[in-house]
Amino acid sequence: MKIISFNLILFTLLLAFSCKEEKKPTPFEILISQQTDFDVLIHRGQVVDGSGATAFAADILLKGDSIAFVGQVDTAKITFSKYIDAKGKTVSPGFIDTHAHGNPLKTPDFENFLAMGVTTISLGQDGFSPSYPNIEEWFNKIEDKGIRPNLAMFIGHGTLRQLSGINFNPDPSEEELEKMGNILEKALQAGCLGMTTGLEYTPGTYGKKEELVHLAKIVGKHDKMIMSHMRNEDDEAMENSISELLEQGKYCHVHVSHMKVVYGKGEERAHEILGILENARKEGIEVTADVYPYNASYTGIGIVFPDWAKGPNNYANVKITKKDELAAYLRQRVTKRNGPEATLLGTAPWTGKTLAQVAKESGKPFEEVLIDDIGPGGASGAYFVMNETLQETFVKDSLVMICSDGSPTGHHPRGHGTFAKVIEEYVFQKQLFSLEEAIRKMTSLSAESMGLTDRGRIEVGKKADILIFEPEKVQAKATYENPYQLAEGFDWVLINGDIKRENGQLVGERNGVILKR
Ligand SMILES: [Zn+2]
Repeated sequence: MKIISFNLILFTLLLAFSCKEEKKPTPFEILISQQTDFDVLIHRGQVVDGSGATAFAADILLKGDSIAFVGQVDTAKITFSKYIDAKGKTVSPGFIDTHAHGNPLKTPDFENFLAMGVTTISLGQDGFSPSYPNIEEWFNKIEDKGIRPNLAMFIGHGTLRQLSGINFNPDPSEEELEKMGNILEKALQAGCLGMTTGLEYTPGTYGKKEELVHLAKIVGKHDKMIMSHMRNEDDEAMENSISELLEQGKYCHVHVSHMKVVYGKGEERAHEILGILENARKEGIEVTADVYPYNASYTGIGIVFPDWAKGPNNYANVKITKKDELAAYLRQRVTKRNGPEATLLGTAPWTGKTLAQVAKESGKPFEEVLIDDIGPGGASGAYFVMNETLQETFVKDSLVMICSDGSPTGHHPRGHGTFAKVIEEYVFQKQLFSLEEAIRKMTSLSAESMGLTDRGRIEVGKKADILIFEPEKVQAKATYENPYQLAEGFDWVLINGDIKRENGQLVGERNGVILKR
């Protein structure tokens, strides 16, 4: 018996030994066989990787501007220059804002965005980009000055019209179209991610189908996208506006910017519109959309004025020759947009007052305030024209992502609150979707839509734009009354591998990059 048990022990040992021989090295062992020196260790966090997958416990190692490892780290076997204890915290990719505003030469830090977790902003929206025939000149200025978040840049269709001398002309010649196409082509070659349109604004509104299709073909040739502030976001105009965009979608990826239905209501209406997009996808059109989590839009007061009261027409003349007609138009238009109480002005000297208040104070009808005191270019405002149920149905759709449409200076809370509000309100208070899904809508979905293949996920090889935070503590502080309050709760914001905001303070140099494709 003794001999048998001795043999058995020997056999077991041999087996154990041979098993150990065959055991595959762990990913961490493979890593440290290649390198052991890292820049940052983010230790013991719960990783929400941006894909929508369930959160998991992991350590993250960064080397340079990239993610070098995601998994269990043995700290005794490596060296690192910076240690971040993420115990009890969520680690996610930095948020990507698909539609933002602002001037990097004036506010290069964009702290409002960093404070709400945004590490990449998209500019050149609504048909307007900096007026440079060669966008590279502008890129050089940005790179000289430095920019804190990364920048995804688009070229504006309205700007193309200006640069090519077409401007307000509804019927450009072949030659002018070609000129516009050439400027577009150059911008796409310089790295812009696509073109934007602002068909509700002048001069974009003068662009017709032939022109837009001509440009869409060029965008498509470069495998890039058109983001569109559509021609008309009013309830009864939505179908036409979308079908105009889908026409361009035959040639390139198209994207509905800040999708909304002005004075439309209800879940059913939202499903009708989502259904149009879904059907287009079945026909092979690539179409996506973004929304912001507020019920008021924000733009120039010109949005309520008719085209004939705006450039190239002379407003002073219109005021004299067509005043009654203009008054009737404004009265009807503003009333349809929920009335003067639903227009909150954001420009001095009316900042913070509704159009109804200003009218009352000046003792005249609101349309006369608009005509005499403000004018089509005289102010910006927030317009409470959206229905909560409808917008929330949009935001739940799997191909709808989050944008702010905000800026450092706009008098609307979306510029300082959007991404925090999505977590605070949509995830925790209303439970519209999980934290993982919310983060997917703010990271990988946006990155993939814009063709940014190296961002938007916590994954080896991706660029290290990373947030470390406690989701329950995230708060959007901005309100309509005080829209400039920074969001709270994002303890660390890393951009391209470096900490750029820590416990409410900006740190280090600006190291954002222009994400050229
Ligand atoms: Zn817009």
